[in-house]
Formats: sequence, C-alpha cells, structure tokens
Amino acid sequence: MCGDCCREVLCCPGCWDGLPWLRHSCRGCRLPLPEVAGPLCAECLRRPPPWRRAAALLAYRPPLAGWLRAAKFAEDPVALHGLSLLMAQLPHSAPWLAEAELLLPLPMPAQRLRQRGLNPAAALARALGRSLDRPCTPGLHCQGLPPPQRGRDRAARQRIDPRRFVAEPAVVGRRLLLVDDVMTTGATLRAASRRLLAAGAAQVDVAVLLRTPAPGD
Ligand SMILES: [Zn+2]
Ligand SMILES: [Zn+2]
Repeated sequence: MCGDCCREVLCCPGCWDGLPWLRHSCRGCRLPLPEVAGPLCAECLRRPPPWRRAAALLAYRPPLAGWLRAAKFAEDPVALHGLSLLMAQLPHSAPWLAEAELLLPLPMPAQRLRQRGLNPAAALARALGRSLDRPCTPGLHCQGLPPPQRGRDRAARQRIDPRRFVAEPAVVGRRLLLVDDVMTTGATLRAASRRLLAAGAAQVDVAVLLRTPAPGD
C-alpha cells in the first residue's frame, strides 16, 4: 500500500483506515447502501435471501479488487495471505458468526479449479474457521459446468439451479456458514444455500470478504 509496512500486521494504521470498510449495508445481502436507506435493498425486499444472516467486511473496490484478482488469476500468495488476514477480522464486526458449527467454502466447478489451481473461497473459509475456532470442510460440491456469466442478462444470471450443487451428509442438522470471497449478484450463494437447506441443514448463514457495490455506485 504506502510501502511503510510492518512485520506482523497487514498495513500501517493510515492505510488500514483507508480501506473500503462496509458501513451502512443491506441486512439481507450486505449491498452498500446510502446512510438514509432502510435495512433492506430493493432486491432483498422483492426476493428475500434463503440464508438467515449475511456478513461482509469490505466493498469490492481498490485495492481489494486488485488483490483478489492477483490471488485468483496470478496465484499471488502474498495477496491471498493479505485477504486471509482481513477475513480473520470478520467476527469483530459480526459476533454472531460464532454460532456456526461448520464452515463450508462455496465450491468452484472442477474444470475452473483445474484451470486456476486455487479456490480463494477455500483459503478464506480456513482463515475464518481458525479465527472462530470452528471446523471447515468441503461439504458442498459442484456438478457439471457453470453457465457462462458473460453475455447473459442480469435476470438470467440471477437464475442458478440449486441442483448444480451436491451436499454431503455432514451438513444434515448443522448450523452452517457458507463462505465466499466476493458476493456480486448473490445468485450462486442463493442457489447453494437452497441446496444446503433442502439437504437438511438446520440453518445457513453466509460470510463473504468483499461485496460489490450497486452498478454505477
Ligand atoms: Zn500505509
Ligand atoms: Zn439486499
């Protein structure tokens, strides 16, 4: 960031304060909202999310957006480590995360995982699990290919078939925390949550490190 780096923490206090922390956000999906807005965004009012609660720490803006791209596409271990350190801070802003019994990373389709070699959601779920002292397990899997997101309109991107996911018996009767790196439309998290609830999970909450702002915001 400013280059005035310390040994044990992510950055200096000035750079820390300058990170795009989420302040007022939708209670349903953590979309950043203006101070005067109500507790829910228009989308959550229209279609309430299937999860019970959602936590997010930062807006998907510079420099975090660049770090996530570096972690995802360049497999930059320093960027991933920085994001993991931030993820471990999430329970400070959402103490209810401690109610989770089991953390599950949102899975990446096998083909994409082979291309990229790394699912940042899994690394972030492990970091959050260590911070909460809770187990983290790949209890949800993808089957088949993801629908291409590019070229589909927003309504089409919102529709993801929950049957794309397969849940393991370990989720039955458990209070689950589904973890991803960034929430954009929330469509994948909605489909995965529905699948976990249909499979018999007692409760599903979601935690993401980054939340994209509304288009144009
Ligand atoms: Zn600094
Ligand atoms: Zn919302």
